[in-house]
Amino acid sequence: MKSILVTGGAGFLGSHLCERLLNEGNEVICLDNYFTGQKSNVVHLMNHPYFEMVRHDVTTPFFVEVDEIYNLACPASPIHYQYNPIKTVKTSVMGAINMLGLAKRVKAKILQASTSEVYGDPEQHPQTESYWGHVNPIGPRACYDEGKRCAETLFVNYHQQNDVRIKIIRIFNTYGPRMHPNDGRVVSNFIVQALQGKDITMYGDGMQTRSFQYVDDLIEGMIRLMNTPDDFTGPVNIGNPGEFTMLELAQKIIEQTGSASKIIFMPLPADDPMQRKPDISLAKKVLDWEPHVSLDQGLEKTIAYFKSII
Ligand code: NAD
Ligand code: UDP
Repeated sequence: MKSILVTGGAGFLGSHLCERLLNEGNEVICLDNYFTGQKSNVVHLMNHPYFEMVRHDVTTPFFVEVDEIYNLACPASPIHYQYNPIKTVKTSVMGAINMLGLAKRVKAKILQASTSEVYGDPEQHPQTESYWGHVNPIGPRACYDEGKRCAETLFVNYHQQNDVRIKIIRIFNTYGPRMHPNDGRVVSNFIVQALQGKDITMYGDGMQTRSFQYVDDLIEGMIRLMNTPDDFTGPVNIGNPGEFTMLELAQKIIEQTGSASKIIFMPLPADDPMQRKPDISLAKKVLDWEPHVSLDQGLEKTIAYFKSII
């Protein structure tokens, strides 16, 4: 049995990861400050004898004896990470320093939840791990993008300077049950609007693209990466290469919910990336991983979840 710390464990992705790690027979310590996460995401795990919750903020040091750390703590939706941008930078940067310091001290292996946002508004398409990105360092998304880029730098520096065993995963847009209904991301917004018969809020002309992966595929990739040999650090893209415009996404959701909602067009937020699609050759080669859930299948499960909570 491994003892595993999951920061941001009460969030959307963290709660799925905690559940999977417990099911595989590990002891899981879930750390969260509940900024965007909720106890309800993990309440079904509370009676598990090997599950513990800790209310803590990663911007301050934390000490615990563990074998592995998954560092997911950070708001992920633009409306949440832009609410207090200074705090977002602190969470990424100071959170990384505190968790890397802990990993160094207790000799734990540590995985950083990085993001496709490190590629910014990419000029290379699809994006490979070797692409350095196209990020505006003073724009509204910078607190998140640059915070995550700096965290990657810190991970590599701790590995090179202090021999800390690190793994960096670059996660592309992920959706599924337990996304917060007011989280502002496109999949949750469109599904909630469609189910409530409200207008579908399309930002810009809807021709911008994203590649959406279902949460189960991501968690599988994340755990496979953590279990790679120590000399493999990543970064590795984990995402579904299926690429859709936001108009295509809206049409699918309207169809699958049978909604009468109509699409309304609103201004595109500043620095909103025009396109995004992962090159997953490295994940296929090193992790023997590829996504299995299509957008249609994943949306069906996600729509069923939102129906049950709203
Ligand atoms: P989320 O907002 O649901 O989860 C983030 C969790 O971190 C929440 O439970 C929140 O309360 C917690 N948190 C935030 N600041 C904290 C702090 N200072 N101290 C302790 N806990 C804190 O978002 P998510 O979608 O589950 O994302 C999880 C991680 O994955 C994030 O690091 C995010 O950047 C990364 N990621 C997510 C996606 C995606 O599409 N969902 C894509 C790329 C990267
Ligand atoms: N978007 C939209 N309507 C919404 C929410 C988002 O058209 O109600 C667009 C947004 O402008 C972006 C895309 O959907 O182009 C994905 O947005 P999200 O915030 O989910 O992810 P990110 O931009 O961080 O990839």
